[in-house]
Amino acid sequence: TRVDYLKLDNVQVVYNGMILVLRGVSMRVPCGKIVTLLGANGAGKTTTLKAISNLLAAERGALSGGSIHFEGRRVDDLGPEALVRSGLIQVMEGRRCFPHLTIEENLLTGAHTRSARRSELNAGLEKIFHYFPRLKVKRRLSAGYASGGEQQMCAIGRALMSNPRMVLLDEPSMGLAPQIVQEIFAIVRDLNQRERVTFLIAEQNATLALDCADFGYVIENGRVVMDGTAQTLKDSSEVREFYLGIG
Ligand code: ATP
Repeated sequence: TRVDYLKLDNVQVVYNGMILVLRGVSMRVPCGKIVTLLGANGAGKTTTLKAISNLLAAERGALSGGSIHFEGRRVDDLGPEALVRSGLIQVMEGRRCFPHLTIEENLLTGAHTRSARRSELNAGLEKIFHYFPRLKVKRRLSAGYASGGEQQMCAIGRALMSNPRMVLLDEPSMGLAPQIVQEIFAIVRDLNQRERVTFLIAEQNATLALDCADFGYVIENGRVVMDGTAQTLKDSSEVREFYLGIG
């Protein structure tokens, strides 16, 4: 297990050339682990994920300092597409599926960075249907008619079609009932254990995220204010008070 599989050192991000939103974020994601990034709305979780996946430009954001390494290679100057080809992909907040495409067609769009044969694509689909049986049942349904939970599963499945070694999930629980979030996190753990996919999960729902993750970071105002094993964070009085709602 390499502790510096994904490594952020003193990452700073500005929007519109002036507003400093990340003020020096350093974090490590070990290979084969699940790490969660916790923080309130606006703390900088989405910005951190977009900095990693090189998706800031569309938001008029940019790295203004620091470095990001993935598998020992500096990646903060790689384009998002090249990053996907090199094994790292982000599932954006808000489970963006193409509403007019079926679930299966949505999944297939996730393979566009691979030059895969139809038989390989079918094998990829079958693997995703194995982990997400609900998607198999709904494979012919337009994604726009699927439930929120199914759309989130579809968004994760679509990312998996690129054959990633690492997946960034932005707020997978958003707008979903706790029961379906638990189901999704159980599948994430399964993918982590059996397919060795490394995950970084930005979450406001600290309770569910810490049950799923091995390690966590807490971000406030663009800075990491705490980190530790999931258990350490669950036991911490600050985390309990501010993020778990337990006094
Ligand atoms: P959320 O739960 O809303 O996703 P977050 O922790 O992910 O919250 P970010 O979305 O990273 O937080 O936002 C961090 C800060 O950057 C916030 O103050 C936000 O207003 C600001 N911000 C985000 N996107 C932009 C942008 N495109 N231009 C200017 N400021 C932005």
